[in-house]
Amino acid sequence: MTEIDYYEILEIHKSASNDDIKSSYKRLAFEYHPDRNPGNSNAEEKFKVINEAYQTLSNPDKRARYDSFGHISSENMFSEQDFEAGFSDIFGNLFEEVFNAGQRQRAERGSDLKYSLELSFEESLEGAQREISIPRRTLCDVCEGSGAAEGGEAVCHTCRGRGELRYTQGFIAIKRQCSTCRGSGKIITEACGFCSGNKFTVSEHTVRVKVPPGITNGARLRVRGEGDSGFMGGLNGDLYIEIRVKEHPLFRREGHDLYLNVPIGFVQAALGDEVEILTPKGLSTIKIPPGTQSGQNFRLKGKGAPKLEGRGMGDLYIQVEVRVPVKLSKKQKLILEEFAKASEEKNQPAVKRFLDKLQGLFN
Ligand SMILES: [Zn+2]
Ligand SMILES: [Zn+2]
Repeated sequence: MTEIDYYEILEIHKSASNDDIKSSYKRLAFEYHPDRNPGNSNAEEKFKVINEAYQTLSNPDKRARYDSFGHISSENMFSEQDFEAGFSDIFGNLFEEVFNAGQRQRAERGSDLKYSLELSFEESLEGAQREISIPRRTLCDVCEGSGAAEGGEAVCHTCRGRGELRYTQGFIAIKRQCSTCRGSGKIITEACGFCSGNKFTVSEHTVRVKVPPGITNGARLRVRGEGDSGFMGGLNGDLYIEIRVKEHPLFRREGHDLYLNVPIGFVQAALGDEVEILTPKGLSTIKIPPGTQSGQNFRLKGKGAPKLEGRGMGDLYIQVEVRVPVKLSKKQKLILEEFAKASEEKNQPAVKRFLDKLQGLFN
């Protein structure tokens, strides 16, 4: 076996100061750390030697002895405690975090799932109950998530069932998750025939969804625990139901209020009338007073959409559109001409106001 030169290993001069030793060690230990070089046995070996070198050269007594007598087998010289003191001294918790990151199989929360539910306009107002079918990941019923057939499981030979391995590299003791069993402590010798060893199966799952009255387009309902199954005691994910409300051919919704445009004839508007309208509860009639103008709104209190976040209802606004008749008969024309002759300014106050303003602009 060739003699190892600790100074060479740490890439420092024989006269290097303690600080030089420390900073050089820090840099090299980081570079060759097993966590940064997985599966690289050269780096592992190098890391081990770097630590040996540091343990010796950072201690003035050991360094003096090394300078006089050369390399002495590390196993006989230093305990693990020696190492750990120097180690935490330099890196604090930094490495500890790196080490712990890969350890043991942790509980894993199931994924959230999304489902788009389309409702009719009426359903959005009245509320709805639906049974929906969701394909979701669940632990395999047959192997209960072990992935193994009955009797097809054995204690992991690498970690002897502990799920983690303790590496001793010179002065270093590192616990790492066993890569053979991925921390479970067991290996599968025969895969579960049902899930093919996947531990999960995907199956359709029926979820009853209750949609509250008054829900709006784009609203999201959360059904807790109806997402994918968790693993190793992790919680199930949630199911998010995104509501799509189909447009209504007549109603328009704004907040809790509904709007309905109702065309009426100009005679109805002038003389007043009872007009048939639609409400969310069905047909109804409203009274249009004489002299109703196009665009005028009539508010029907409490006939709108239910308020989701509290009691009560929005309102229904009926907007009147006054329509002028087309294709008049000879007789109708005569009557209207008579009507025009008999009309006075006060019959058309809005027209009069407009003409006055127009004149004002040119005078
Ligand atoms: Zn299975
Ligand atoms: Zn193992």
